[in-house]
Amino acid sequence: MPSSRVAVIGAGAAGLVAARELRREGHTPVVFERAAGVGGSWRYQDAASADPLGAGGVHGSLYASLRTNLPRECMGFLDFPFVADEGSVDPRRFPGHQEVLRYLEEFARRFHLLGLIRLETDVVSVRRDTGGRGRWRVSSSSPTKLAGEPEEARSELFDAVVVCNGHFAEPRLAEHIAGMDGWPGKQTHSHSYRLPDPFHGQVVVIIGYNPSGMDISRDIAGVAKEVHVAIRAAPAEMQSATAHANLWLHPMVDRAEEDGGVVFQDGSRVKADAIVHCTGYKYNFPFLDGDQDGDPVIAVDDNRVGPLYKHVFPPHLAPHISFIGLPFKAILFPVFQLQSSWVAGVLSGRIELPSPEEMTQEVAAFYSDMEARGCPKRFTHDLGASTFEYEDWLAERSGLERMEEWRRAIYVAARGRLRGRPESYRDEWDDDAHLLDQAHRDFAKYL
Ligand SMILES: Cc1cc2nc3c(=O)[nH]c(=O)nc-3n(C[C@H](O)[C@H](O)[C@H](O)COP(=O)(O)OP(=O)(O)OC[C@H]3O[C@@H](n4cnc5c(N)ncnc54)[C@H](O)[C@@H]3O)c2cc1C
Repeated sequence: MPSSRVAVIGAGAAGLVAARELRREGHTPVVFERAAGVGGSWRYQDAASADPLGAGGVHGSLYASLRTNLPRECMGFLDFPFVADEGSVDPRRFPGHQEVLRYLEEFARRFHLLGLIRLETDVVSVRRDTGGRGRWRVSSSSPTKLAGEPEEARSELFDAVVVCNGHFAEPRLAEHIAGMDGWPGKQTHSHSYRLPDPFHGQVVVIIGYNPSGMDISRDIAGVAKEVHVAIRAAPAEMQSATAHANLWLHPMVDRAEEDGGVVFQDGSRVKADAIVHCTGYKYNFPFLDGDQDGDPVIAVDDNRVGPLYKHVFPPHLAPHISFIGLPFKAILFPVFQLQSSWVAGVLSGRIELPSPEEMTQEVAAFYSDMEARGCPKRFTHDLGASTFEYEDWLAERSGLERMEEWRRAIYVAARGRLRGRPESYRDEWDDDAHLLDQAHRDFAKYL
């Protein structure tokens, strides 16, 4: 089978599993990682971006208290169980971020990936080579260790590029809120949130109630005078009691006022000291320069990265450039692994892709269907209800077994509890004990 020299950009969960699957298929991956170690998002950084709204600079978006929002046995890669063992720094089912980093570092060691990774090496440009063989020129730079020496720049040719640069580093703000520019208080994005201490005694408005918004509002409620969360949600959820007497849920913010007032869509108003925007992230590929004609490889439009066949291949450049890790609302690590196995198999010729025209048609049909359903572009990579169908599709193409039923059932149960019991879902979960038994029986073959 043909083997390719492949540039993998990023050594987070996606880049690590991509490197492993590529090598398993007989390719030669070279992984470029800007940070000083592997793990991507899971490398907690004390420092936040200088701009409190978070643009530019720091990659990490974890807060100090972060615990996973999925139970560990469901979160791990398909054949490398994420179980507590003697090396665990946090053996809980929903462990703190340090344990996830440990797991990813262990994954890199176990599958001998560290030798493939160039740390502290920033990919600055990826461009289709004009030499006619359809290869990619990847330019990177790394600091030299000698003071006063310029950065070392390198430009190399690869048969293929797999982009795994993550998409939780560039903050996205909610649509324009009237008066926000002149609002006098302190505004931050969850990307820059680390600890609750700066909010001591304050009245704080949190915009957004995704898993980070849920955690951060409770973290801050422990020290603040009042926390008011603006949430797009059904009335039943609005009434769900919170365990914090100083935490209230509201509809979305209607406007902000010059005297510090924040008015919600139901007309209620609070005078606040700070606003924390928990409004998600943007996809960004600053290093992608273009194809051989200088045309963009992909476009990002309202957080839709496209056109991409099955969230992975741009039809006109497939299979020589691909994207791992774009989907969200899914069991992410296993999805990254399935995508990587598919890409590796396509590159070696073991798996066939449809023609570029067929892929383009399929992508167009997907976009039209979203439009007909009134679904905004920014939900393109939200797997949501179609996540199991997508995983089965990838597994079938790659010749892998379907994702285990217990994993799916644990995932569904955990998502339900997260919404219904945000205070306690990580520590009260007796109802899926029988699924855990099945998980651990399956894990035995990999341990
Ligand atoms: C607050 C928060 C909580 C989360 N909780 C969970 C959870 O409980 N469970 C779960 O499964 N997922 C969770 N996630 C999602 C998490 O991001 C994914 O689990 C996963 O870590 C994403 O991996 P990735 O490899 O795609 O991206 P990342 O982990 O972001 O890795 C990308 C890597 O690419 C590198 N890179 C980027 N650009 C370049 C460049 N130009 N040159 C070289 N290197 C580059 C970065 O330095 C980074 O190391 C959470 C995310 C956030 C932000």
